Amino acid sequence: MSDSALSARYGPGETNYFAGSPLNRVGFLRDDHEFLALALTHASARFVPLFKFDPAIGAGALLFLTYADVEPLVGNPYAVSEAAAAAAFDSDAETPTLVFLGLDEAAPGIAHRGYAGQPYFAVDITPTQPARAAAADAVHALVVARGAAFEVVRVNYVLSPAEAAIYAQARSYVDWNLRNPFCAGCGARTLSVNGGCKRVCPPSDRGVARPPCPSRGVVTNIAFPRSDPTIICAVVNRAGDRLLLGRNKRFPVQFYSCLAGFCEPAESVEEAVRREVWEESGVKLGRVVIHSTQPWPYPASLMIGAIAEAVEETIHLEHDPELGDAQWFPFADVADALHRAEHPESAVAPADGAFQLQVPPSKAIAHVLMRAVVLQKAHLPKL
Ligand code: ZN
Ligand code: MG
Repeated sequence: MSDSALSARYGPGETNYFAGSPLNRVGFLRDDHEFLALALTHASARFVPLFKFDPAIGAGALLFLTYADVEPLVGNPYAVSEAAAAAAFDSDAETPTLVFLGLDEAAPGIAHRGYAGQPYFAVDITPTQPARAAAADAVHALVVARGAAFEVVRVNYVLSPAEAAIYAQARSYVDWNLRNPFCAGCGARTLSVNGGCKRVCPPSDRGVARPPCPSRGVVTNIAFPRSDPTIICAVVNRAGDRLLLGRNKRFPVQFYSCLAGFCEPAESVEEAVRREVWEESGVKLGRVVIHSTQPWPYPASLMIGAIAEAVEETIHLEHDPELGDAQWFPFADVADALHRAEHPESAVAPADGAFQLQVPPSKAIAHVLMRAVVLQKAHLPKL
């Protein structure tokens, strides 16, 4: 809201691509199998099928399936309580990778304990489990018969922001489940619970007690999905007219972006920004402000977008030779490059083959940060 005191002080805010989901995750209902069974089997339920983590896309939109479409593959894992499923745990059983994503409260669907909406699930249809391969292949054939195909999604892709956010959640959770079949505490097989949002190390397997495991004692949080905090920063010079951009060695020679890297343990976000920028470019930073954030489901990063000002501007690439180049670009050059990235159809390459700065597409947070600095300076704290 433009009349909010916080918006007046800090700007209107930014919902980055892959964020802004229309779903209410109602995470506190994930252990309620009466709720999950109702949601799963209801005619309104929508399923996001993933094949090798890619979504089914037809005519520029996600293809959703119904319970009837996926029932031969997933069955109903919520027919019994979580406690009963853990007690009956069989580490040799092939179980579906099925994740409850949430309720779209704006659409008709189910109602339970005062929460209502259309339920959404993600389901992995990659045929990796022998006993389920035929059922998985049948779902794949269904998707193709309906005119869709499994396609790679990145920030330059066609999905609407709402569908991109649903896909991001689906991808991150399915990926996490498939990466964590074994307990980090004892190495034994785990069981998916909480609608696919938690994995536990059951105390017994086929009725035989398993050895003690730290995940069943005081350390009970080792089997939840994690996000990896990752910083990405638009660095402004002291004069406030140039932006520091770097070129990864893997990038084309004209392609520059904001500097980025993972946060390390026992480090604040601001310290991670200063450390990464110094390691990669030699530039020393003072004040760091956080602008906005972006979930990045490849597989589980949370991009924390920052804007920072340099206190020492000399570029030095030899500490951590991750970048092929780094340069201070005038705001006007960055503004031109942002425009070309937003309107690639009208971009014209210079006839003489001269250098022309290229930057990431408009749905990438790097682009959003650059735009915030060079085109929306009014919303920034004084630089
Ligand atoms: Zn364990
Ligand atoms: Mg780095």
